[in-house]
Formats: sequence, structure tokens, C-alpha cells
Amino acid sequence: MENGTIIMTNALRLGKWRVVCDRCGFKRYSDEVVKTWDNFYVCAPSTGKTCFETRHPLDLIRAKPEDVSVPYTRREPADTFVTVAYVASTVGIQETTIPAGNFTTNNETI
Ligand SMILES: [Zn+2]
Repeated sequence: MENGTIIMTNALRLGKWRVVCDRCGFKRYSDEVVKTWDNFYVCAPSTGKTCFETRHPLDLIRAKPEDVSVPYTRREPADTFVTVAYVASTVGIQETTIPAGNFTTNNETI
């Protein structure tokens, strides 16, 4: 404090009250803060602090809803089952038993 200067940081200002900035935490008078778009009370630009930010313009842009419907639809048809005769009963007599014994390929016993 040079020359007896007193800095009165908590000086009374009639009709004003103290507000803590939601961004920097500094104490400000009520006329030195502004309300932001997201309901914060921050230092006004006139105080020299950079706490106040305008809302970004891209926050207000809404994309057009996309139409994802298809031109036409159909129900899936019912399943059709085919009976298959695995054993041919109309052509002679088919051997369905596994023959016993040893099998060889290339002259080697399996
Ligand atoms: Zn601030």
C-alpha cells in the first residue's frame, strides 16, 4: 500500500450484493456478473475476465430427421417342408448295414 492507499475489496455498494462467479470463483458484485445461456452467473466481459462465453451457433442447429422407411414390405411366406426319402425303397433292395471287416486303401490297413 503506497501512499496510504487502501484497497477496499469488500466495500459496500448499496443495492448490490456479492456473487461468486461460477467459472472462476471470483467474488463479484451483482452488477458485474451476467447470466449465461446455461444458467450460470459468470464475470461480465466488462470486468476483463473471460468467463462469459456466447452459445456456440452449432448448438442451435438441428438435423432434419432422416426417413428410413422402405418403399414397400411383404410378409415372409410360410415355410415349405419337403419330405425326403433317404432310403430308396422303390429300387431293388438297398444295403443299409455297415459291412464288417478291415478296410484297406493303397495296400494299407486303416
Ligand atoms: Zn469469472
